[in-house]
Amino acid sequence: MAKKNPTQMQTDWTYAPAPESTSHIRLEKKYQLFINNEWVEPSSKKYFPSINPATEETLAEIAWANEADVDRAVKSARKAYKEVWSKMSGIERGKYIFRIARMMQERAREFAVIESLDCGKPIRESRDVDVPLACNHFFYYAGWADKLEYAFPHKIPEALGVAGQIIPWNFPLLMAAWKIAPALAAGNTVVLKPAETTSLTALKLAEIIKDSGLPAGVVNIVTGFGDTGAAIVNHHDVDKIAFTGSTHVGKIIQRAVVGTHKKTTLELGGKSANIILDDAPIDQAVEGIINGIFFNQGHVCCAGSRLFVQENVADLVIKKLKSRMESLYVGDPLDKNTDIGAINSKEQLDTINKYIKIGKAEGAEIYQSECSIPSRGYFCKPTIFTGVSQSHVIAQEEIFGPVLTIQTFRTIDEVIQKANNTPYGLAAGVWTDKGSRIFNLTTKLRAGVVWANTYNKFDPVSPFGGYKESGFGREGGLHGLSAYLK
Ligand code: ADP
Repeated sequence: MAKKNPTQMQTDWTYAPAPESTSHIRLEKKYQLFINNEWVEPSSKKYFPSINPATEETLAEIAWANEADVDRAVKSARKAYKEVWSKMSGIERGKYIFRIARMMQERAREFAVIESLDCGKPIRESRDVDVPLACNHFFYYAGWADKLEYAFPHKIPEALGVAGQIIPWNFPLLMAAWKIAPALAAGNTVVLKPAETTSLTALKLAEIIKDSGLPAGVVNIVTGFGDTGAAIVNHHDVDKIAFTGSTHVGKIIQRAVVGTHKKTTLELGGKSANIILDDAPIDQAVEGIINGIFFNQGHVCCAGSRLFVQENVADLVIKKLKSRMESLYVGDPLDKNTDIGAINSKEQLDTINKYIKIGKAEGAEIYQSECSIPSRGYFCKPTIFTGVSQSHVIAQEEIFGPVLTIQTFRTIDEVIQKANNTPYGLAAGVWTDKGSRIFNLTTKLRAGVVWANTYNKFDPVSPFGGYKESGFGREGGLHGLSAYLK
């Protein structure tokens, strides 16, 4: 059915549906574990469904790896490390990584469609952001593989060995690329576990890895739930744990590796501040707010979920924001017009709805756009809360959905204090006309990344990571490479 553009109600103007075709993608009914370049049955013979969150239909059955399977994967990674990968020259390793990047590019459309089906994100995001960035990470790190001694002058860079990598569901393919590409470039072998709700693009990547001729055992992909992840973390022969996910699980992992030889990087939750000063270009800033929290359903760990607006422009910003919210399309992730797709799982939708209830009970004022949402699948309207105070739960805890809290401030010192008053420190945004104000704020905000007059921009060359309960270690750039080297 054609959807109405709510800002154009008077003329009854509509966009025609523009769904991306699924005819060119191929999904198996059942996916096995990818160990030693072979598809193997899980020893428990257990499988779980991967659900399309927009339709609630099962896309495929996924193998559930247990401790024995993880052990098999780690042994295969160790063997590949000892016998092949650690002996191979950087230039040869680089060739394989370049090949993987090129093969991903060739199949970019297929990856984008499967990502949208499995994860719920709009095809525009997966096609224009996730997949190109994932390819870029492989290209970027491929270039470093034979130049490690130039990347770290006066040092003798040495791989760590076997890297255990556990990733979340918000950027399934991109997170796999963030983890695998630098690990391989630095000369490590890998056991990677995708999130239980979004295994499909990692398994498609396994197909490419096999086709690329990468030596057996260099990359192993084991699917499953938290117990599978825990088996990787606790395996005695893993040298490095790289984790992206919730602060809660990050703390469990941190406790598990204390006192072991394992190196760790943790990229955890966030409650990032997006700050609009009174001299900001307001229309661009409103676009930045929308991009920061609503695109991608707010499923971004660095989402600009706390908005701080200088008091004298607050009314104007909120008015423009509400008007822009009314033009956002919520619906079919495969439709090219869609701005906000499906929430990844029923559990996550329940969490978001729980926080919306808490926000109302705390006395904050709610505004949701008037758009209709599909009756089937997991969807949430873009939501803002005004009249929020610092102590409100919705201003303190990570919601991980399209829900924005709005607070006002008068002075720069006040907003710095408010923005930093959180257990997290992943990212922040600053919108102002003046470079001096940008420098002042960026030096005082306790966040791993601070964007100025933009938001949610990524590049393989730039390191990304957090302070405080948002974790430690950096991914991307040379920092991301050094995390996989002695
Ligand atoms: P989110 O809230 O984003 O789903 P989680 O931290 O729950 O984040 O999950 C991120 C990844 O961590 C997933 O792949 C999940 O299966 C895995 N995981 C969950 N629990 C554990 C655990 N105890 N040990 C290791 N990995 C885990």
